[in-house]
Amino acid sequence: MINGERSIERPLRWGMVGGGRTGQVGYKHRTGAQRDGTYRLICGAFDLDAERGRDFGTKIGVVADRCYGDYKELIAVEAGREDGVEVVSIATPNFTHYEITKACLEAGLHVICEKPLFFTVTECDEIAKLAAENGLIVGVTYGFTGHPLVHQMAAMVRKGMLGEIRIVDMQYSHGFNSGDDGGAGEAVKWRTNPKTAGPTFVLGDIGTHLYYLSEVVLPHLKIEKLLCDRKAFIPTRAPLEDHATVLMHYDNGARGRLWVSSVNAGNMGSQRYRFVGSKASIEWSDAHPDQLTYEVQGEPNRILHHGMPYLEEESLATDRMGALHTEGLGDSWANIYLWIAQAIDAKRRGDEAFLRSHHYPGIEAGTEGVRWLENCVRSADAGAAWVAFE
Ligand code: NAD
Repeated sequence: MINGERSIERPLRWGMVGGGRTGQVGYKHRTGAQRDGTYRLICGAFDLDAERGRDFGTKIGVVADRCYGDYKELIAVEAGREDGVEVVSIATPNFTHYEITKACLEAGLHVICEKPLFFTVTECDEIAKLAAENGLIVGVTYGFTGHPLVHQMAAMVRKGMLGEIRIVDMQYSHGFNSGDDGGAGEAVKWRTNPKTAGPTFVLGDIGTHLYYLSEVVLPHLKIEKLLCDRKAFIPTRAPLEDHATVLMHYDNGARGRLWVSSVNAGNMGSQRYRFVGSKASIEWSDAHPDQLTYEVQGEPNRILHHGMPYLEEESLATDRMGALHTEGLGDSWANIYLWIAQAIDAKRRGDEAFLRSHHYPGIEAGTEGVRWLENCVRSADAGAAWVAFE
């Protein structure tokens, strides 16, 4: 159980790019980072609008002269301070991730970046090389993958409690983009433009969450081929999609089905996962994150609750609230930030042995998400054809 005691030598000096007053995801970063005394927010370039960013920054406790006009100024000024920033979170639209990450790494700063990480696997590989050469960590924030019941699912699969995995069924959908984009806000405008969103809309925006969570639960399964069918129900969003279905064949013979949509009118179910094995199935949804359904063929179905002593050790080790008390998205983000802090701390100490055995969403997690997107787009653009996973 995690109780907020600091698990690293001292708090990391932390800054943010984006995530200001108008950003949707910034608060989740701060909620995650500031739980366990592992990060101290000392600076930021919080907003495209420098004045609004400065006003916002001071209102969340950052001194005015460390609220910068843009990320370049942040890097340059902080580099000249003895107590300068060490790690920067990037919570800006997709098209800025690569250039800001690169600039931070070149300045010797660790990075925690939003998904989808970059536009291409080539960019991911280049950044992975740069981070390795400079001895720096790149973390990626897939929000719900720190939840204790996600790690319960991984442990149950690893122990063989499901038998051989046969079916992977995942859905992340909502209806917020069911209407057209007349009068849409900035967050929708950049998401539906390939120049700012990258090669996908909902596949990258929400599908990468599904894909990474399935990698956490089923690390032994590799995709052999996939078929992606995507469509823009609102034509102005084309060539990007507001709806997609992906079929996947895995190397153990398992079959996968994933659908993502932002035009699932009225739906508030968000993420749902069902993993089916030869003996039993498990099902989890972030609509009811405290419960995991465990169904053994021929036995009464069971509901497992987070924090209960019958769960696996690796699930209990990630629990914060204890059974009976709601454990949610903020707690999951706190775990992700904690694991990345521990990786940064180990890197600073040169503890490569710790890093080899430490699980956190790093550059590989970001890269694999982008690789999956590249394969989806190749299939969709070939007319929803089966393509070998490359
Ligand atoms: P948003 O449009 O709501 O907010 C973006 C913010 O970034 C704005 O406040 C804007 O002023 C600021 N900004 C833009 N460019 C900037 C720059 N160069 N320097 C400083 N600030 C800049 O976007 P959002 O929904 O918060 O998404 C941001 C990123 O987070 C995207 O990559 C998105 O995919 C990701 N995201 C992740 C999750 C998650 O659960 N991990 C959830 C939502 C969004």
